[in-house]
Amino acid sequence: MSTTTDQGHLLLVDDDEMISMLAAESLQHAGFAVSEAGDGDAALRLVAEQEFDLLLLDVVMPGIDGYEVCRTIRQSPRGQSLPIMMLTGLNDTESIERAYAAGATDFVTKPINWLLLTQRVRYGLRAGRAQAAVRHGRESLERAQRLARMGSWEWSLPQARFSCSEQLRRICDDIELTGSSTPERFLERVRRSDRDVVAAARQRLMREGTPYQATYGLRRGDGSLVEVFEEAIAVRDAAGRIVKLEGITQDISELVQAQRRIEHLALHDQLTGLANRQFFNELVTLELERAQRVATACAIIHIDLDHFKSFNDGLGDASGDRLLCGVAERLQRFVSGRAAQNLKPPMRANETVARVDGDSFALLLVDLVTPEHAALYAERLLQAVAQPMTVAGRELVLTACIGIAVHPRDGDSAESLWRHAEQAVYAAKTAGPSTSRFFADDMNAAASAKLELESDLRQAIAGEGLRLFFQPKVDVASGRMIGAEALLRWQHPRRGLLGPLQFIPLAEECGLIVALGDWVVAAAASHLRDWADAGIETVSVSVNLASPSFLQPDIVDRLVGIVQRAGVVPQQIVLELTESLLMVDSERTIAVLDRLREQGFGLSLDDFGTGYSSLSYLKRFPLDELKIDRSFVTDASGDSKDAAIVLSIIELGRRFGMRVVAEGVETGAQASFLLVNGCPVQQGFLFSRPLPAEDFAALLRSGHRHDFRRQLTTVAG
Ligand code: C2E
Ligand code: CA
Ligand code: CA
Repeated sequence: MSTTTDQGHLLLVDDDEMISMLAAESLQHAGFAVSEAGDGDAALRLVAEQEFDLLLLDVVMPGIDGYEVCRTIRQSPRGQSLPIMMLTGLNDTESIERAYAAGATDFVTKPINWLLLTQRVRYGLRAGRAQAAVRHGRESLERAQRLARMGSWEWSLPQARFSCSEQLRRICDDIELTGSSTPERFLERVRRSDRDVVAAARQRLMREGTPYQATYGLRRGDGSLVEVFEEAIAVRDAAGRIVKLEGITQDISELVQAQRRIEHLALHDQLTGLANRQFFNELVTLELERAQRVATACAIIHIDLDHFKSFNDGLGDASGDRLLCGVAERLQRFVSGRAAQNLKPPMRANETVARVDGDSFALLLVDLVTPEHAALYAERLLQAVAQPMTVAGRELVLTACIGIAVHPRDGDSAESLWRHAEQAVYAAKTAGPSTSRFFADDMNAAASAKLELESDLRQAIAGEGLRLFFQPKVDVASGRMIGAEALLRWQHPRRGLLGPLQFIPLAEECGLIVALGDWVVAAAASHLRDWADAGIETVSVSVNLASPSFLQPDIVDRLVGIVQRAGVVPQQIVLELTESLLMVDSERTIAVLDRLREQGFGLSLDDFGTGYSSLSYLKRFPLDELKIDRSFVTDASGDSKDAAIVLSIIELGRRFGMRVVAEGVETGAQASFLLVNGCPVQQGFLFSRPLPAEDFAALLRSGHRHDFRRQLTTVAG
């Protein structure tokens, strides 16, 4: 039985027909529509079928009781928010508690006061509706927030209680973003570079009530980064005290990405994705300001492809485009790759490569030590461009010319530098394909001399021109030669005989030093082989190896291979290394030196005393020999400071069990001083200048008859 009025539709569940009837009557009288159920099962059926605004539910019933009915209803989606009023025994606290535990909203005690019942029901309905409205509001707010990717948060003071909307947790991808520790946790999510600003704004809001708007990056729980916009205000109580902060935080990543895309389009070349001329100009202007501030040189490198038009006409536009993209990719890879990073001296290009015109590109070299170095960079760049490229099934070689304008000498504005780089590229074009030119003529001269020397040296290493000279290492006590040092010379086709100091720095600069080291070891080994083959009794030969050689990953196998191919054993070779080697990656260096020593090579530390040698590191390295630098030997008379240094080096060698060799001994006085103080092994002009191989072979042949003490006595006496 049921009637409907707009006061609300009630379901009355009671097995006591008498109570049921009376209740129904008085409720209907008050204007409610009432349905009745005689037991729990019937009640559940009805609730499943119809909408009710409130349930009056007896506790004690045959079959399933009221608690069970209440719990079951609460589990169904439609029953979650239904107001349920339970009818319990008088003052029965335990059943009241159980009623609440089962999910009841209110209770009415039996015997029922009919007047009160209608009041309670009215109140219950009103509360239910208000709750429904709030719930509905919250749901639509949440829906709106979700659509706008907008989360909200509140931070109540002074307890520092933080609460936030579901949507904010979703933006942060952090379901635990709630509870008391969260203001910090929320702040930790802010991108590190933005964090101070956001923290300061929140502090100001908390202390002074100044509202803020901020855009910042937010690190999500899954590690991704979103851009957000945040706006927050302070809420005050009647006394004007700040009691709460309220904020909204909106994910604006899509907007930011769209903006960036638009900016990118405006500043980048559509075809290659490189920066365009406008962007490059801005970059140059910025860099010039910086270069002026820190007083360093920088250079614009303008790259113009050779004969691109013929390629384009011959292959068609599509292939021409691919060719341009190929070049763009090479330039980009070169600028950010190892080839450029390994240049000596180190040179740094700004990583932005630009396409500034149909077939021309540009980049910016920054922090140049000397401007001429830009020529080396340009040279490498041209080599990279000129690698064969396959386009439309054909292998092509495309070359380019480079014009270089250096700041500050060629101009101090982007425009003037740019104009001069363009002029330089025309000059390069007239000189032929694959060339580079500075704007300034004197720099062209210096750079081309250097480049010429480099290419000569490359040829010398591969072919003719390099020679080894040998200088004896003498045991002054016995007068015998006990070894020799191989010293490099270069018979240059136009410049005559060059000493190592005239070309070793260049070899280091242009990456030829390792090849040079290999050549020296091979040459020394093959001389040893030749002497032995000629029946001459040999001594061990020291070779100078620059640090980059030792840093080659395959250095041990490589040296062993070179020596073995020449037909000698590592025991005949001493490797002279410099202190600079001991300063880099010492764990690895020690391991490499250990392995070289296991193979039989002798190890000697050259120019000792001039570097950063400290006792503590010296004893960690497996060395056989220390060479006292010539500069100390020269002044090592009686009681000078250098004499003290020499004495302590000798003492050091004795302690660590290393042989000490004195270099650059020129006078009998120096030799006697060293001998008396325990350093009999010496090397220097006093005994012999470095000798060409043939002369040294002659000395070896007579070696066992030659007594180097003679030199000592002649000069000293
Ligand atoms: P270093 O290793 O200290 O070689 C000794 C230098 O001192 C040699 O100069 C030698 O000719 C010179 N010298 C020897 N005795 C005397 C003396 O009594 N008085 C004077 N004033 N000088 C003496 P050199 O041959 O010009 O070599 C210079 C430097 O070039 C060498 O110094 C070494 O650091 C480097 N060098 C030589 N050959 C090679 C090589 O094959 N590879 C590498 N990486 N460097 C080498
Ligand atoms: Ca040496
Ligand atoms: Ca030396």
